[in-house]
Amino acid sequence: MGETIFAKIIRKEIPAEIVYETDTVLAFKDIKPQAPVHILIIPKITEITTTKDINGKLHAPILGDLFDAANKIAKDFGISESGYRIVINSGPDAGQEVYHLHLHLLGGRKMNWPPG
Ligand code: AMP
Repeated sequence: MGETIFAKIIRKEIPAEIVYETDTVLAFKDIKPQAPVHILIIPKITEITTTKDINGKLHAPILGDLFDAANKIAKDFGISESGYRIVINSGPDAGQEVYHLHLHLLGGRKMNWPPG
């Protein structure tokens, strides 16, 4: 699978509304927000295209970094206490469009269950 648009965002070759960045993680506003807060949180490494590429032992540190970022961003956007949803779409049936692992952090409104 070729390079994704997220690799270009990491290299700052195309613009994004970046809200958080570390050596390992980048987070930016989703271009088509599905909630008042909709942030994508991605690892800077490109080797995890989808959850089936995850090797728990190998990738534990980066997965930790993604969730640390989610906690920080949720606080920054004022949704830490009201609650939020973290979504990872994995593969065609889940509607995954970009094959670079990403957490969707969604909040600022009441969420429905089951998801569509
Ligand atoms: P998924 O369907 O889980 O692969 O989600 C991909 C997400 O990336 C979608 O919610 C898109 O709206 C979002 N997206 C695609 N291109 C961009 C971009 N250039 N900047 C920000 N978000 C994007």
